Amino acid sequence: MEYDYFCPMCRGHLRVGDKLVFSAKTRENKQGLIFLSPELGNYTTEHHPSFDIKEGEEYRYYCPICHAKLNYQENEKLVKIFMTDESEDEYEIFFSGIAGEKCTYRMRDKEKEEFGPDRDKYKQYFDLPDEYRKYL
Ligand SMILES: [Zn+2]
Repeated sequence: MEYDYFCPMCRGHLRVGDKLVFSAKTRENKQGLIFLSPELGNYTTEHHPSFDIKEGEEYRYYCPICHAKLNYQENEKLVKIFMTDESEDEYEIFFSGIAGEKCTYRMRDKEKEEFGPDRDKYKQYFDLPDEYRKYL
């Protein structure tokens, strides 16, 4: 299946070959590139050895094209991007910006699909009506 992923701000393509490319930054402003698998539920991550990814650490994700921050405004632990499938249907994709957390959510018209062993972690968040989310 050929999925395309893009930045919600500039709609630039984040998928190059068989990787999704992001620029990432730690709270201590250490920066580097992160390559993720475009396959939902595959948590293979690649990065240069000099960019040390620590389990449990929270990362800010940025579009490598327009440099917009991709962390979800209402919950900065989640990163939000867009996806289109082979029939050009558009989805919102959320995944955890915390290293080691394996969960992905695919949303379209209030329908949610969950992926990954840590999927229960933010599940409740997406089940809540929008107006309650800000209290979490
Ligand atoms: Zn962008």
